[in-house]
Parts: sequence; structure tokens; C-alpha cells
Amino acid sequence: MTSPRSILIKNGYILTVNPKREIITEGAIYIEDGKIVDVGKTDAHSKYNADLVIDAKNGIVMPGLIDTHVHLSQALIRGCADDVSLVNWLKGYVWVLQGNFQGTDGVVSAELCMAEMIRTGTTSFLDCMIHTRYGLDAISQSVETAGMRAALSKIVMDSTGYADNPDIMYPGMVENADDCLKETDEMYKKWHGGADGRLQIWYGLRSLGGVSHNLFKEVVRLAREKKTGMTMHLGEVVDDVEYVKDNGYPNLTSFAKDMGLLGSDMVFAHGIHFEDKELELLAETKTNISHCPSSNTKLASGFAKIPQMMKAGVPVSIGCDGGPSNNTYDMVQEMRLTALIHKPMVNDPLVLPAEQVIEMATLNGAVAMGIQDEVGSLEVGKKADIIIIGMDDIGLTPNTNPVSNLVYSGSGHYVDTVIVDGRLLMEKKKLLTLDEAKVRSLAREHSTKLIERAGVKIEPKWPVR
Ligand SMILES: [Zn+2]
Repeated sequence: MTSPRSILIKNGYILTVNPKREIITEGAIYIEDGKIVDVGKTDAHSKYNADLVIDAKNGIVMPGLIDTHVHLSQALIRGCADDVSLVNWLKGYVWVLQGNFQGTDGVVSAELCMAEMIRTGTTSFLDCMIHTRYGLDAISQSVETAGMRAALSKIVMDSTGYADNPDIMYPGMVENADDCLKETDEMYKKWHGGADGRLQIWYGLRSLGGVSHNLFKEVVRLAREKKTGMTMHLGEVVDDVEYVKDNGYPNLTSFAKDMGLLGSDMVFAHGIHFEDKELELLAETKTNISHCPSSNTKLASGFAKIPQMMKAGVPVSIGCDGGPSNNTYDMVQEMRLTALIHKPMVNDPLVLPAEQVIEMATLNGAVAMGIQDEVGSLEVGKKADIIIIGMDDIGLTPNTNPVSNLVYSGSGHYVDTVIVDGRLLMEKKKLLTLDEAKVRSLAREHSTKLIERAGVKIEPKWPVR
């Protein structure tokens, strides 16, 4: 699909998220060759003769949302492990289903996930765990076709889980260290900087118990040599704290520091079980935390100390996690939960106001992915990753304060238009780079076969006649 070379968005309520955090009413943005050329009042933009003019009347125009913790592979198993204990969630459902992926399951899941992300306003994402069996090349190719901006992390692991218990992980989920590193290297050479610079290849460290200390250090060395990023789940479960204590470390950050894992090139997902005194070191080292409120509440993992982290200066962004733990990839819903769930935890309705949550879902996400000079705000010279959210809906009426209305009453399904790199990925709620009907029908077909093959039973708890 060819996209217009120049686009003028006019009459919008623009949240620039620029250094002054300016909001422009009756605003316009002029885009040329993928970049933002001008941001200002619509009146002053009449001089531009754009190939395409989009009237954003009654709409919010803002930077595309950035999801910093996504499992592309889990979209296909959405809703397959609801209302079960965490151990059963992993061992009875998620690992068994993911361990049974074959053929094109991985890419079908990735396209389902991306279709939902685009539909709900996400323009960039960090996938934390691409397994070889999901099809590394096919997934990279599908990101290029979908037109999104992404960092894909190849799984790196060399043991099967805590205490090297060989039975802990489903056999299909296990990889070996040499192959992990070799495949990451190959993927990096082939795809890093690909898709017109939209794609990065990162290291996806499996988990504390799934990676030996030598491998942690080797990955840190390789990632820094390549100047690429690393991500891993950390402090999602209490077992992580027990693991570091068993290994002679007082807490998670002291272990992470010793392994070399702290820094602006690391994104820790969840980060629930940090102690208050650890937050300063995270802030000092600019180590990123991806907060996943849906997942943390659904799996009863706990409440990350997000207000405390923000106060300490830790860079915190937001992640939707996956289909069985969320069960959506809708960042607007995730913003709403982020703004809601922490207030009673610290008994303060003033923490995490709508503006701060929007920063987390845009600029902080860009910082986590190391692309803050390119995207994350609407400023002249930045790449045109822009979404328009229609606010003329019964559920958003009256639209007195559009900023808080978006966060507290919003849903990604109000998103109308999505632009990445100046290219339209969705216009008037119609996906342009992915065939939505085909994505849905393939996903249903592959999901049915996968569940059958894995021998997993999924049904309501009520009697079905
Ligand atoms: Zn996750």
C-alpha cells in the first residue's frame, strides 16, 4: 500500500508531550516524508498543500502509544488460562500451549497481536521473548509488513528453571545456550535496523532461574558490544527474591548489579518485589521498569511500587504483557488501570495523575526502547508516529477535560487513525497494512488446532449444555 508523501492533520486537540507539555487546541500537524515538519494552530497551517488532509475535529491527536512488555506469541492463547493459580497458569496452560506451537502459529499470533495493537493506538512495542519455534524471520517480516516500530527479543536461556529442575518447564519451551546466542546474532545481523530503521533486535533473558550467571555476564557483554538492548521479567514473583538470597545477594538489585544488568539499555518487566531502598539504584543507573498492571492484578502477583519509583526518578513505562495474563493488548485500558490501582495502595488520590500516565505510555516508553530522539512526543524533526482518538462518543461525553477523560473513560477502541513513520496503518478504524478479517479467521483456526494438539481443556466453570 502506498501512503501519501505529505499529510496535514487539522482541527485536533493536540497533546504534544513536548518538553513544555503543551496542549494545542484547534491544532494542526504537517508531516512530510515520514517526519513532523510543523506543529501549531490550524490557521497557521493553511499554507501547506498536503497530499492528504485529515480533519481531527473532536479528536485527540497524540504520540503513538508505546508498549514496553509484549508477548506476541501469547495473542493466540488469549483467554486460555483465566482464573487459575499462577503455577497452574504456567505449567498447566501457558507453557504447554506455547510449547506446542508449530508451523506458522508464531506468525499468526504475532499478526493477531499487531492488529489489536494498531487498532488500539500502539505504534511501538518491545516483545520480550521470541522463541525459535515461533519463526524468527517470519515474525520480523510480519513487523515490517504491519508497519509497526518494534524491538524483538530473542530468548536466551541455558537452564530449565529454578534449581535446574528438569521437570519445571514444558519441553517445547526449552532452548540451549549456544543456539540462543547464535540465533540472536544471526537475527541481529539480518534485522537490526531493518524495516526502514523501525526494527531492533534485543536479548530476551529468560528469567532469573533460567539463565546461569556466566550466561548473564556474556549476554551483557554481547549486548553492549552490539549497542542493543536487553529485557527480562524481574521481581514478578517472590521466587526471584528467594533465588537471589539463596545465591548470597541481599536483594534483586544487588544481584542485577553484580551481573551487569543495570543500565538504560535494560527493561525489567513487572518489578513488583523491589524494596524501597533499591529504587535509588534503579534511578541512578536509569534502569527501565515496564509496569504491567492488568497482568499483576489478574495473576495476583502484587502491586509494584510505581508512585515510589516515579518519585525516586526511575524511568517507568507501561506494558500489556500477554493474552493469558491481561487479556488485551490495549494500552489505553492499561493507562486507566495504572492511574487507578496505586491510589488506594498509598492512600493518595493525587498520585499518578492522567498527565503522568500519558507520559509513561509515550515518552517513557520511547526512553525504554532507546528511541526517545525519534518518537514519543510530537515535535518538529521527530518521526511521525501519531494517533488520533475520536472523543465524540457517548462514553466520553461531556469531554470537559480531554486529558483525564482519555485516561479515566477511555478505551483503545476509540482510536480512529494510526500513523507510523508518516505511513497510515489505520484510517477511520480500518486497518490498512493487515487484512483484519483474514487475521481473525486464521487466528481462530490455529488456536483451535493448537488447543487440540496440546490436549488442554478450556471451558467455563458453569455446566454447558
Ligand atoms: Zn511477560
